[in-house]
Amino acid sequence: MHKDIATPLRTQEILKKYGFSFKKSLGQNFLIDPNILRNIVSYADLTKESAAIEVGPGIGALTEHLARDAGKVVSFEIDQRLLPVLEDTLSPYDNIKIVHSDVLKADVANIIKEELSDFEDIMVVANLPYYVTTPILLKLLMENLPIRGMVVMMQKEVADRISAVPGTKAYGSLSIAVQYYMKAEVVMTVPKTVFMPQPNVDSAVLRLTRHAEPPVEVIDESFLFEVTRSSFAQRRKTILNNLQSQLPNGKAKKEQILIALTEANIDPTRRGETLSIVEFGLLADALYPYFKK
Ligand code: SAM
Repeated sequence: MHKDIATPLRTQEILKKYGFSFKKSLGQNFLIDPNILRNIVSYADLTKESAAIEVGPGIGALTEHLARDAGKVVSFEIDQRLLPVLEDTLSPYDNIKIVHSDVLKADVANIIKEELSDFEDIMVVANLPYYVTTPILLKLLMENLPIRGMVVMMQKEVADRISAVPGTKAYGSLSIAVQYYMKAEVVMTVPKTVFMPQPNVDSAVLRLTRHAEPPVEVIDESFLFEVTRSSFAQRRKTILNNLQSQLPNGKAKKEQILIALTEANIDPTRRGETLSIVEFGLLADALYPYFKK
């Protein structure tokens, strides 16, 4: 086994050798603690029969741990300056494919087809760039990729919102957008001291596990998300008020919204934050004929 990239000393050496300067605008906070990396990877339950998809390898700290545990790793890196560094640091491993691309623009489904067709078990494992955590997660979820789940490091505040349960302050449309696809749990909180440079916010590792069955079947997924976003537009307002002011022509369709709420068995004076995903699903389907047909 080779010496870990993610020790403070080795990281410093690598940065110095390549004269690398961090770009804050790319969310470059590298991990410098091998124990944290081992823990993150252990939550992914990888075997040599599994593949891992990583976003943002940096200088390869997490990538090499993934390569040790998984059969193959595909890792998307936007910063061209890191390509020669990775070529060097990851040279002991022959099961890593670095894709030079903005993951938000990449055709991930196609890359899975090309690179990972031998693997039935695929996990996303990443220390995400914090400035684009939510768009990356939503992209990977909504593209319905053939993945078992994700183990991803992000700002603690975002991890808490994603995993929040109804009736809490953190619960909102992001919780529903993610939990519709996958079970969400915060499995680790991580101190700032394990990063170089240290970020301004606390971090956490979120584990997402695909549901065997979706919690609710809906006619139109994107309409479900429109209804949930509308319901949380002004958190202190009732669900009826929010739907009226947010849905197209909602003001004029008060009667129809009331009928749909009754059909879904939801009291119009409740607030969005008290509704479960199942209730939002029933509501979206009850509203559908009045707004989508
Ligand atoms: N995995 C490394 C680690 O844990 O030390 C680095 C993690 S660092 C938080 C985030 C990485 O994502 C950086 O290497 C950054 O250049 C890269 N990155 C930022 N935006 C990206 C994007 N849109 N697509 C792909 N990679 C991106």
